[in-house]
Amino acid sequence: MNTSDTPRDMPRFADVTTMEVGGRISEFVEPDSRASFLEAIIMADVMGKKLCVIGGGSNMLVSDEDFDGVVVRDKRRQISVLDEAAPVEEGAPHTTTVSATAGVHWDDFVSYCVRMGLAGVEALSGIPGTVGASVVQNIGAYGQEVASVVTAVEVWDREEKAVKTFSREDMDFGYRHSLLKATMYEHGPHTAPTQFYPSPRYIVLEVTFTLLHAQTNAVGMEQLARALGVNVGESFSIQHIRDAVLQIRDAKGMLEDVHRYENPWMVGTVESAPGTALDEGPEGSPESSPEDRNKYSCGSFFMNPLLSQDEADKLPADAPRFPAVDEQGRDVVKTSAAWLIDHAGFKAGYKVAEDSTAGLSTKHTLALTNRGGAQTSDILQLARTIREGVRNTYGVTLVPEPVFIGVEL
Ligand SMILES: Cc1cc2nc3c(=O)[nH]c(=O)nc-3n(C[C@H](O)[C@H](O)[C@H](O)COP(=O)(O)OP(=O)(O)OC[C@H]3O[C@@H](n4cnc5c(N)ncnc54)[C@H](O)[C@@H]3O)c2cc1C
Repeated sequence: MNTSDTPRDMPRFADVTTMEVGGRISEFVEPDSRASFLEAIIMADVMGKKLCVIGGGSNMLVSDEDFDGVVVRDKRRQISVLDEAAPVEEGAPHTTTVSATAGVHWDDFVSYCVRMGLAGVEALSGIPGTVGASVVQNIGAYGQEVASVVTAVEVWDREEKAVKTFSREDMDFGYRHSLLKATMYEHGPHTAPTQFYPSPRYIVLEVTFTLLHAQTNAVGMEQLARALGVNVGESFSIQHIRDAVLQIRDAKGMLEDVHRYENPWMVGTVESAPGTALDEGPEGSPESSPEDRNKYSCGSFFMNPLLSQDEADKLPADAPRFPAVDEQGRDVVKTSAAWLIDHAGFKAGYKVAEDSTAGLSTKHTLALTNRGGAQTSDILQLARTIREGVRNTYGVTLVPEPVFIGVEL
């Protein structure tokens, strides 16, 4: 296996995940070319080893036990503009096609697009992780979803042992869902895992996006519109949209902690260009604060439940309700997991016990956080308590968003 930059010692999952928990990895490889990335995946599968392709480790909760398998992290960080000089037909919107390798840090990609005047991903600023994983769960925030700008996803098919290219339609995108995520579970999120788990059957090599060549874009969500002083649907500068999203995220503790990148196993995985979520902020203060612990999470730990009309009718009148479509294409009602958690009595900062090392973020009830020194078992105990509390109060069973490795709820 070509593992040009594989250090001698192996990291723990705690070194390479945002939750900062998880046991020792027996084999960690960081291929820096397409051929060696493919080789690492193929070799693991051929040798029947457990394979985990990891990006930023921001959407996984891993057991405290050692991981007896191969963890592969794509070291390629290339962004290419494919049709910069293409002629534009009169009257047609001017779009630009950009591709990025799986290992590109997601926010580096957003920062690049905004700098280049490419609209379509600015509201997704500050989401941790990589381009490769962005299409696995169809990341979304502040009125945008990655699905709306993806035109092609090049993958390695671990079953048919071939490179394939999926169109947006092939990807079957939905709310935190894609064809790729579907291949990890037999019957939907967090049901029986397939043979490919904890990664998909299809490993992302590169993603192609079609973006609008424009300095402005429509503001897609109320909270963001309020922050910018405009109405939903109005156009605004994409740079200002990005800045506002980063500020809102920061206020909610929903950015990564920059100190994470001081860990030797994370050094070099991000560009950290000025103006990104990972610079040192307006005051340039690099010191860690207790509030930074709010950032040691997987973001939203539970998905917003999709309910039938009957189930939704049983919720209190003031519970949020939004029309949605589920994975089977049925009309359903989406409610807010954060609202259910909060109204079931779990307030921001909640801990199972005073001295617990796991707790809800002090700023956001949907983020389960490692307050410092937590084990995976502490996070699980907190998650179980919350799931039970919500089920007993509202009859709704919350489904976790992160990928669980070696553990169950
Ligand atoms: C503070 C914080 C805020 C967040 N906010 C949001 C948000 O607003 N919206 C949102 O949607 N998510 C959010 N998330 C969740 C997370 O950032 C996203 O799910 C992100 O896309 C995960 O990327 P990653 O590279 O870290 O994936 P990882 O955690 O490394 O992996 C997750 C899954 O993707 C698979 N995977 C990784 N790379 C590849 C690849 N190349 N090919 C195939 N499979 C792959 C892994 O095997 C695993 O199954 C947040 C997380 C945190 C910590």
